[in-house]
Amino acid sequence: MNKLSEEAITSFLQIVPTAKRDELMSNHTSVKIGGPARLYVVAPSNAELLRIIGEAARLNIPFVVFGGGSNLLVADDGYEGVVIQAADRSMRIEGERVIAASGAPTGVVARAAAEAGLEGFEWGIGVPGTIGGATYGNAGCFGGEMKDVVSAVETYDPAHGSRRTFSNADCRFGYRDSRFKHDPYILLETTLLLRPGNRETALTRMTEVMEKRKASQPQGSFSAGCLFKNYEFQDGSALDILKRHGDGIPETFLTQKRIPAGWLIDRLGLKGTSIGQAQISPVHGNFFVNRGGARAQDVLALSSFVKMKVRDELGILLEDEVQLIGW
Ligand SMILES: Cc1cc2nc3c(=O)[nH]c(=O)nc-3n(C[C@H](O)[C@H](O)[C@H](O)COP(=O)(O)OP(=O)(O)OC[C@H]3O[C@@H](n4cnc5c(N)ncnc54)[C@H](O)[C@@H]3O)c2cc1C
Repeated sequence: MNKLSEEAITSFLQIVPTAKRDELMSNHTSVKIGGPARLYVVAPSNAELLRIIGEAARLNIPFVVFGGGSNLLVADDGYEGVVIQAADRSMRIEGERVIAASGAPTGVVARAAAEAGLEGFEWGIGVPGTIGGATYGNAGCFGGEMKDVVSAVETYDPAHGSRRTFSNADCRFGYRDSRFKHDPYILLETTLLLRPGNRETALTRMTEVMEKRKASQPQGSFSAGCLFKNYEFQDGSALDILKRHGDGIPETFLTQKRIPAGWLIDRLGLKGTSIGQAQISPVHGNFFVNRGGARAQDVLALSSFVKMKVRDELGILLEDEVQLIGW
C-alpha cells in the first residue's frame, strides 16, 4: 500500500480531530494482534461514520470499517489508511422487529430482544462483536444464523455516495458469507424480524447457550474466534481420503454435509501446536490463541501449516473464516 502523504494525514486530522495517528490495532482486536493504523477513528454515530468516510474519500485516503474486532487479523505492518470503528450502538424495538445500528453489540441486542419477549435470537448472546460484523459474516452458533433473523440491512455505497437497503434475499447469505464480503458496502443498520414469545423462556434459553459456550470454547484467552470455516461438501466422494484415515466420521456430520474444522484439526493431533506465541488452542482445534505477544505472521504461518496438513493428510481444503486487514 502506498504511504499516506503528510499533507493528507494533516488535512484529515484537522477535519476529523478525534482521529488518532499510528494507533496500534492490537488495542482493538480480540486476538490482541495488529500493527498501527496510520489513522484511527471511532464513529459514535452513523452520521459521523458517513462524514468520516466522505472526508477520507475526498482526500483519497483508503479506509476500512470494522465493528468489535472479534473476527479480525490485522497485519503486523498495520494499515496505511483510516481504520474506522462503527460505534453507533443505537437500537429500537418495534413490535416483532429489532432495529439495531451496526455498532450495537450483538449480545446486547440479543438480550434486549429476549427482555422484550421476542424469541429466535437467543443464540446471539455469546457472539462477540457487533450486529454489523455479525451481518457481514452471517455469524451463527448452536443452530442459529443471522440469515434466519435478518429482514433488512441498510447500507451506504461509497462508490456511488448513496444509501441502499437490502432485503434478506438480496443479502445473499451463505455459510459465514454474505454479499457484503464481496461488495464494498458499509453496513449502517440491521433489522431483525423475531417471533413473539415468552420472556422467561427466551432468557432461560440464553443461559443455556452461555453454559454450552463455556463448556466448548477456550475461556480467558485472546483469540479471533474460529480461524477456518467448517468444511461443507455436496458429494460424499469429497471425503474419500478422510474416510481412509482411521475411525469413522460421526453420522451427524454426514447428514449435515459439514465437517467441523476443529474436528479435522483435532484428528491430526494438532491441538496445542504453536509457532512463536500463536497456538492452536488445546481446548478447541479451530481457535488460535495469542499466548502473549504473538505476531500476525505467526498466526498466518500456523494457519498455513494447518491448511497444508489437512490438505495433504485428509484431502480437504480449509478456507479462512477470520477477516484480514492490511495484508
Ligand atoms: C471468543 C470468540 C467466540 C466467537 N464465537 C463465534 C460464534 O459462535 N459464531 C460466529 O459466527 N462467530 C464467532 N466469533 C467471531 C466473531 O465474533 C463474529 O464473526 C462477529 O460477528 C464479528 O463481529 P465484529 O463486530 O467483531 O466484526 P469485526 O471483527 O470488527 O469485523 C469483521 C468483518 O466485518 C467487517 N465489518 C464490520 N462492521 C462493518 C460495517 N459496519 N460495515 C462494513 N463492514 C463491516 C469488517 O471490515 C471485517 O471484514 C467469535 C469470536 C471470538 C473471539
